[in-house]
Amino acid sequence: MGRLQKILLPFLGLVLAFWFYSARENFKPEMLKGKRVIVTGASTGIGEQMAYHLARMGSHILITARTEAKLQKVVERCLELGAASARYVSGTMEDMAFAEHVVKEAETSLGGLDMLILNHVGTSYFGYFNGDVGHVRKLLEINFLSYVAMTTSALPMLKESEGSIVVVSSMAGKVGFPFTVPYSATKFALDGFFSSLRQEFSIQSVNVSITLCILGFIDTGKISAVRSSAEVLLVPPAPREECALEILRAGALRRRELYYRYGSTRLPLLLRDWAAELLDYLVRSRYRLDGLKRN
Ligand code: NAP
Repeated sequence: MGRLQKILLPFLGLVLAFWFYSARENFKPEMLKGKRVIVTGASTGIGEQMAYHLARMGSHILITARTEAKLQKVVERCLELGAASARYVSGTMEDMAFAEHVVKEAETSLGGLDMLILNHVGTSYFGYFNGDVGHVRKLLEINFLSYVAMTTSALPMLKESEGSIVVVSSMAGKVGFPFTVPYSATKFALDGFFSSLRQEFSIQSVNVSITLCILGFIDTGKISAVRSSAEVLLVPPAPREECALEILRAGALRRRELYYRYGSTRLPLLLRDWAAELLDYLVRSRYRLDGLKRN
């Protein structure tokens, strides 16, 4: 009997897991057709690519970043690609009033909101922690507090549409990463806030999904938060177009978390609880250390 249980229970678990995942809904681009979406940090990188995918799917898009000239070009391209509508608001997410203003703009121009994609990231340095507390505070404002401010302002509209919040984070927000200490701290903060908020939504039956996206190294040409890390990292980057599409897919399917790419994010993270030091070692071994200035 004991032996039967040992074999039968894991087997049943596997069957159930297979049924659960295969029965889940598949992504169709029509899911985002006509949806009203804000994408922050959309003048370059992954955010820009998300705007183009949304445009092809026929969404109403509101993008934001600081550089107006780049935003104008992205909006023009979105309209060429078939966006139902596309507009931008430029400004800095250091200013919480601006973060709230972007949401207000969605209310006035789109009449509501279906998806809030929080993706922008402030510039940081790549190297050993330099002790600059002011920089950590500023980065927390841009990478974390503005996400909280936008979510708070957008919540009434998202509750009404039973919409989605998509939060773009990083492996550096799940496990300690060297040389990007302030950046990593801001990404851990996002996990704490949004995973806790998801719990409250569940208790209060608030039908707004929260998708936390754990990204590995992505080919964005440059990475503002971890600028020049490409020269030091020994792993090849994943393509930004594919990454952007995976984020939208996960958001549309109301997934709890996205791991992209799976092999370089989810799999190593399985070690976190049982072999944390091995995981730390694996993270460190991804860097070429020569040439990095010590404090
Ligand atoms: P990126 O190319 O550097 O783009 C960052 C975006 O944020 C730009 O549109 C930038 O536009 C905007 N931005 C910067 N400072 C801002 C500020 N103060 N106020 C408002 N907007 C500001 O970044 P990315 O590589 O695409 O990264 C996108 C997301 O993916 C980030 O959350 C990042 O942490 C995450 N991620 C990226 C990687 C990677 O390898 N690329 C890995 C893991 C996670 P302006 O300069 O015009 O303001």
